[in-house]
Amino acid sequence: MTNQTQDLLSALGVPAAAYTGGTLNVRSPIDGAVLGAVHEASAAEMTAAVGRAHAAFLEWRTVPAPKRGELVRLFGEELRAHKAALARLVSLEAGKVTSEGEGEVQEMIDICDFAVGLSRQLHGLTIASERPGHRMMEQYLPLGVVGIISAFNFPVAVWAWNSALALVCGDSCLWKPSEKTPLTALATQALFEKAVARYEGAPAYLSQVLNGGAAVGEAMVDDARVALVSATGSTRMGRAVGPRVAARFGRCLLELGGNNAIIVTPSADLDLAVRGILFGAYGTAGQRCTTTRRVIAHESIHDELVARLDRARAQLKIGSPVEAGNLIGPLIDKQAFDAMQAALAAAREQGGEVSGGDRALAAQYPEAWYAAPALVRMPAQTAIVRHETFAPILYTLKYKTLDEAIALQNDVPQGLSSAIFTNNIREAETFMSAAGSDCGIANVNIGTSGAEIGGAFGGEKETGGGRESGSDAWKAYMRRTTNTVNYSRSLPLAQGVKFDI
Ligand code: NAD
Repeated sequence: MTNQTQDLLSALGVPAAAYTGGTLNVRSPIDGAVLGAVHEASAAEMTAAVGRAHAAFLEWRTVPAPKRGELVRLFGEELRAHKAALARLVSLEAGKVTSEGEGEVQEMIDICDFAVGLSRQLHGLTIASERPGHRMMEQYLPLGVVGIISAFNFPVAVWAWNSALALVCGDSCLWKPSEKTPLTALATQALFEKAVARYEGAPAYLSQVLNGGAAVGEAMVDDARVALVSATGSTRMGRAVGPRVAARFGRCLLELGGNNAIIVTPSADLDLAVRGILFGAYGTAGQRCTTTRRVIAHESIHDELVARLDRARAQLKIGSPVEAGNLIGPLIDKQAFDAMQAALAAAREQGGEVSGGDRALAAQYPEAWYAAPALVRMPAQTAIVRHETFAPILYTLKYKTLDEAIALQNDVPQGLSSAIFTNNIREAETFMSAAGSDCGIANVNIGTSGAEIGGAFGGEKETGGGRESGSDAWKAYMRRTTNTVNYSRSLPLAQGVKFDI
């Protein structure tokens, strides 16, 4: 793994000095091999980087938006040219199976394409003025430095969702990646610099990456020159970051934990539902924010559905994510495995009947943490079911009426993704209505994970309320001004107010 990683980093343009001799050891979750030792930034280095990013912003904001789009277009070209190498690095560092690593880089390419188009569409409104000879309009203007904090499980795509939009919006970017995945961040930054080298007129330090843990993130969060902090990770992290940014009246975009459910109704196509649930629950070894963690099945089909899921679950091939045919890769580290075991123990105590969940491949990979996917038949939605455990555990519950199913689906602190499998239009529309799912994503006959970049992505409640990626999510990266222009020869006041002098 180590040699392969070094070859990939070199092909992607990362010098060896960037990942040797540092204090942050990087281990592959595949076999525990040490892949590198990266420099950890100090708080003072972060402060200096914010200063450089701010200077870059002051220049970049005056470049016309379509020209800014050209830089993102070039970056998209670099990603296309290096897709296989970067995807492989994602697999080695984050443990994703090959097609998911490739899918992650494809998402980066897609958001670049989206952002390039957007760079000609950052438009506001013209609004009718109540005063004669006046015109009113809104403009969206560049915001400032955008600080991006990302999680290990989407080590590069989440940064791209943010930075591709921020760059066309006229902002500069500062990235604090997960301390578990600094190498893919260095590689992404190197590809970005290749694009900058081919572009005329980009200021220096338009994008910077600073590796390290929470402390370096906090230095970014507390710096008033960072106009927007876009933070992706656990609800615990969001609880620390949100109030700190609010205390200085900064802007925050939070993308936090999920606890996503699929409702399966009596009319559902069970073949479709089984496939959607299996990928949602066990793909990426249950380490997606949109992972399906709960199935809420109608009592008439519950037992059949759960039996099918359990049979299919036991067949899923666990193994190295870079070997063809394996569908379930490793957990990121021992801490994740221990959290999974603790959750299963709690589920048993709370009346759950557990299948699977044991450690796998321990003899072959003593330094890595593979686990058999778990299915837990729960008698009720107990405390452990309402908690996000970042591992392949699927809890199953029964319901009698759709109202009861929707109430169960919503009765968790998180509000990211949800789905219903049904062929009944009333059920589908009710699920998506005001009285339906309270999540940011509510799908019909599609699982909870695997969103496309064209839609706004994010969720409610403890998921943090932020929206990233497509639709009008770009507005978070700009400031809005309302302009009223008087082209008449008089000065009428709004609402007919008189102030004659
Ligand atoms: P984590 O919260 O442990 O870490 C995420 C990032 O936050 C890391 O870069 C970490 O260094 C940083 N961080 C932690 N504490 C901080 C602090 N006090 N100040 C500043 N930065 C701090 O999360 P993780 O284990 O890497 O990722 C898994 C979690 O992320 C899950 O809860 C998952 O649901 C969530 N996630 C959410 C989304 C989404 O879009 N909603 C996407 C991916 C992951």
